[in-house]
Amino acid sequence: MVEYLPRSAWNARPPKAGPGNLTVSRVEGAVIHWPGTGSTSVIHSQAAVASALRGWQDYHMDSRGWSDIAYQVAVDQAGRAWTLRGLRTQSGANGDNDVNERYGAILLVLVTGEQPSAALKATTRAVIADFRKLYPRGTAIRPHSAVRPEPTDCPGDPARAAIARGEFTPGHSEDDDMTPAQMQELKNFIEARSQAYALWVHKQLRRDLSGVIRAYALDIKNYERQTDAADAARAAAAVWATAPKSLQVDGTPNQDPETPDPNTDPAPADPDLDPFPPVDTTPAQ
Ligand SMILES: [Zn+2]
Repeated sequence: MVEYLPRSAWNARPPKAGPGNLTVSRVEGAVIHWPGTGSTSVIHSQAAVASALRGWQDYHMDSRGWSDIAYQVAVDQAGRAWTLRGLRTQSGANGDNDVNERYGAILLVLVTGEQPSAALKATTRAVIADFRKLYPRGTAIRPHSAVRPEPTDCPGDPARAAIARGEFTPGHSEDDDMTPAQMQELKNFIEARSQAYALWVHKQLRRDLSGVIRAYALDIKNYERQTDAADAARAAAAVWATAPKSLQVDGTPNQDPETPDPNTDPAPADPDLDPFPPVDTTPAQ
């Protein structure tokens, strides 16, 4: 639903007697224009757009001798829609009477080299949807350069490319179109996730390998301890054998195999690592 700013919003002069309304059955579509200022000075604020529209109306009425500003509706970069002649009234913008009868005329407030904003495109799609309600057969969306009898680059290369991509067609979703910034953001995200996954694999392998190493080290330590204990027992037995009989008691050390040894039993396993941990690009220690 488009909110159209009224003619009073740009301090419009009343129109002179003009061509009247379009004939519904003749209308084939909407033509897209730009003002063709020949300048790169942008026209963005509401006050700047209002002033520019009033200036173009003066030019069209006073210098060209037309009944009113030539276009039906204007759309600016902030996504504002402005009532000019209105969608029912025939435009004077398309080039001659034939194309003016067959097409409406929508003005995009763009200057040389300016890319149409997402807001401008969204509002223009909504305006064209309104246009199609009035003119069910008028589904074409064409740049002025495609219908004007004389050559023109109107509405400029960026808008012409956007028309060709269907970006002014009602129902077109901008969601499918990624800007370069969005593309870079996605790339960074995927890279960070890949690094996080590689880090997880690394940690998992390190955990598994260190478990194997711990178990092996424990075996060696136990073996060495048992060997040491056996050597010590043999040495002790040899000493005891030379001791006076009155001192000889059972000196065998307690070797209960069930008693855990905190120095040699394996530490509890690490809790399972999250296969998709929070993204963290800090290198592993
Ligand atoms: Zn034009």
